[in-house]
Amino acid sequence: MANIDIRDVRKNYGAVPILKGIDLSIRSGEFVVLVGPSGCGKSTLLRLIAGLEDTSQGQILIDGTTVNDLPPKDRDIAMVFQSYALYPHMSVRDNMSYALKLRKKTADFIAGAVNKAGAKLGLDALQERKPRQLSGGQRQRVAMGRAIVRNPKAFLFDEPLSNLDARLREQMRFEIRKLHRDLNATSVYVTHDQIEAMTMADRIVAMHGGVIQQVGAPLELYDDPANMFVAGFIGSPAMNFLNADAAPVSGSDGQIVKVGDTEVATIPGRGLPPKVVVGIRPERVQLSAEGSVPARVDLVEPTGLGTVAHLQIGGQDLKLFTTDRPQMSAGETVKLRLAPGDLRLFDPDTGARIRI
Ligand code: ADP
Ligand code: MG
Repeated sequence: MANIDIRDVRKNYGAVPILKGIDLSIRSGEFVVLVGPSGCGKSTLLRLIAGLEDTSQGQILIDGTTVNDLPPKDRDIAMVFQSYALYPHMSVRDNMSYALKLRKKTADFIAGAVNKAGAKLGLDALQERKPRQLSGGQRQRVAMGRAIVRNPKAFLFDEPLSNLDARLREQMRFEIRKLHRDLNATSVYVTHDQIEAMTMADRIVAMHGGVIQQVGAPLELYDDPANMFVAGFIGSPAMNFLNADAAPVSGSDGQIVKVGDTEVATIPGRGLPPKVVVGIRPERVQLSAEGSVPARVDLVEPTGLGTVAHLQIGGQDLKLFTTDRPQMSAGETVKLRLAPGDLRLFDPDTGARIRI
């Protein structure tokens, strides 16, 4: 187990900056998920930690020691990739043994480590098979087994579940978490899938354009996003964003927020700029006979678990999610309540959160 400290790390390819100053401290035993859209620099950061690429600037420390100049094999870190990278001509047992043989471990030691990892991963009966005789999920387990037998200081995962179908991904998510609970090894897990990030992480690191946008527990990012990027990236169906105008109410200390001609809320205080973006999660949009916000129903989608209704207020789209099964049909007008505490406000130019 190890602490990993990343200090003002930058990476350029040629003249193109890819990582633009990353600061992150990962505690020993923590399961950290780097999440962000494709191309934001997640794999690059992971490869810098593993030592597969050189940093352009900044420091990477493992347990307080700078490792910038240490080759990958001396960093004692195991990496699990999306492409399992198994040796096709070797059995499961030999794939898992290989790194230990290279390290000149005794046959007894290797057999013990491989059997133990095989048992943890449910590979006992498959030890003599070749990779082509395994399913995708089983191959991914072997790739993890190969990492586990080395008993590394930290595990790095780069989108390890992306090649699996949805149901198997769900199951493997759970298994990787259980494994982490058993081994308690520092883990950095890269994914573009916000559901994986939400369900697996102790802490999420949300990245965009080579910059960390926010670091926090999953529900912190969900409930209290630092900016529009995080608010929009985390959560499905995604947070609604409405372009709105804010104006002080004369004779009181409130400000009225309007979407088109529709008043959606009165916010206490005076601090709002004239133009704001109002964010609200679909499950916070309340259908209410006493609601003051009229909305037109465009489309109703039953998902079984709940209902997603596509609405319009003041000419803009708004999604509602409810686990009730409301009776509404396209073309009808319904009434909504948007509680001020459920609104998240953003600067339309910078996307920064406006806190009130
Ligand atoms: P992610 O894993 O978040 O999808 P990557 O870290 O793989 O993103 O890539 C980040 C950016 O760096 C991308 O724009 C990619 O094209 C670029 N990039 C990655 N590797 C190289 C390389 N070896 N040479 C030049 N550009 C690269
Ligand atoms: Mg990647």
